Formats: sequence, structure tokens, C-alpha cells
Amino acid sequence: MGAVIALDRIAKVYGHGETAVHALRGVSLAVERGEYVAIMGTSGSGKSTLMHILGLLDQPTSGSYRLDGVDVARLGEGAQSLVRSRRIGFVFQAFNLIPRTTAAANVELPLAYAKIPRHERRRRVAAALAQVGLADRAGHRPNQLSGGQQQRVAVARALVTAPSLLLADEPTGNLDSRSTADILDLFDRLHASGRTIILITHEDEVAERAGRVIRLRDGDVVADTAREALEGRR
Ligand code: ADP
Ligand code: MG
Repeated sequence: MGAVIALDRIAKVYGHGETAVHALRGVSLAVERGEYVAIMGTSGSGKSTLMHILGLLDQPTSGSYRLDGVDVARLGEGAQSLVRSRRIGFVFQAFNLIPRTTAAANVELPLAYAKIPRHERRRRVAAALAQVGLADRAGHRPNQLSGGQQQRVAVARALVTAPSLLLADEPTGNLDSRSTADILDLFDRLHASGRTIILITHEDEVAERAGRVIRLRDGDVVADTAREALEGRR
């Protein structure tokens, strides 16, 4: 099967001419199945742009992107949204849960358009909530949950479709240190169970949990380091 993700010279330019912003300047990288990768860099270095391209939320200006061996950057809108809904789970800084609806209904949302029988949907929702340790909160609404619990619901929603890839953009950015630790422990468990995770962060403590750290600066990859090498340097 090879890499889950293979990027070849991905560039992204916003705008034209004098005011053009080169957000990514030819990023090439591969991520293997089961890797846990942190993408780091200062504000404006291109992290979110890269995340949007990886998540098929935006198109690169040039370069190729293979996801599970399929050249996805040039697919049409419909085909892309199908790939996105089946193969990619997203976790955002702001949780993005639907208010006034239960944790279970939030987690079920990505399954709504798939032709999955109701009892099977319920079973998957229960399994995803159990996986994040919230089986007993299925009927709670977001405003009845702590920030850390809301983010765990968001992780369950990301996992319910059994995606090839979990993409998280600053998932602990809005959390206190206790909830941050909970989410990072959860990601460790998901990684141990074979999930492929790409996490964007500007915090060293968060990136330290990953097996590999990729650093961006002004739209270029300036470092790509495996954990063994990181530990060797301490
Ligand atoms: P990061 O997530 O690392 O802070 P971004 O990927 O959001 O960085 O931004 C990279 C660069 O691209 C920045 O200079 C930013 O101002 C610019 N940029 C991001 N989105 C847009 C956009 N929609 N239009 C124009 N410029 C953008
Ligand atoms: Mg960003």
C-alpha cells in the first residue's frame, strides 16, 4: 500500500502579482500508515494552509497529493468530498460541535449521509464515544460538558467513519493543562492502536508526544525529525 500521504512539491499562492503570498513553496513529504506526526512553526509559516490541503478543504496551486495512493488534488469537488468524508477525520481548535444537540447526535453526524442502517449507526456512535471515555455522556449537550470533554466528543466524531487519517489543527489550543493532558493521552492511545495522526501545534509539549516533528518556516519544510533523533539531542 505504501504511504498514506505523499506530497510532491506542493505550492500554495494566495492572490496575484505584487500582493501574492507564497504560503507553501514546494513541500514534499510522505507519511506512512500508523505514524504520529506533529507539524510545527510560528504563526504564518503555512501550517493551516498545509492542513487545509491535506484535508481537501483547499486546492494547492501546484504539486501532487496522493492519499492512500489516489491522486486527490485534481479530483472534482464531488469526488473530493467523498474522499474527505470517508478517509479523513478532522479535529479543530474550536471543537465545532453543534450546540443544543447531544454528544451522540454530534458524533453520528458524519454517518448521516452514508447509507448505514440505523442500528449500525448507533453501534458505531457508542463505540466511538466509548473509545474517548465518554460512554456515560452520550445524552449530554455541549454546554453540559467541559472543554476537554467537548474536544473528546469532537475526536469521537472524527473517528466514527474509521478514517485513514486523523488531522488535528491546534486541538489543545483552547484547553487547560489538565484537559490538554487528557487529549494527548487519547491521541497516544489512538496512535498505539494504529491510527495515523497529523497534529498541528506551536507548543513543544504537544509536539513531544509525536514520533516525528516537521517544522515549517515561510512555507518551506526546514526540519523533519524522528523522535529517536529528538531524544538523542537532549
Ligand atoms: P499558520 O497556520 O502557520 O499560522 P497559515 O497557513 O494560516 O499559517 O498562513 C500562511 C501565510 O498565508 C500567511 O502569510 C497568511 O497571511 C497567508 N494566508 C493564509 N490564508 C490566506 C488567504 N485565504 N488569503 C491570503 N493569504 C492567506
Ligand atoms: Mg494556523
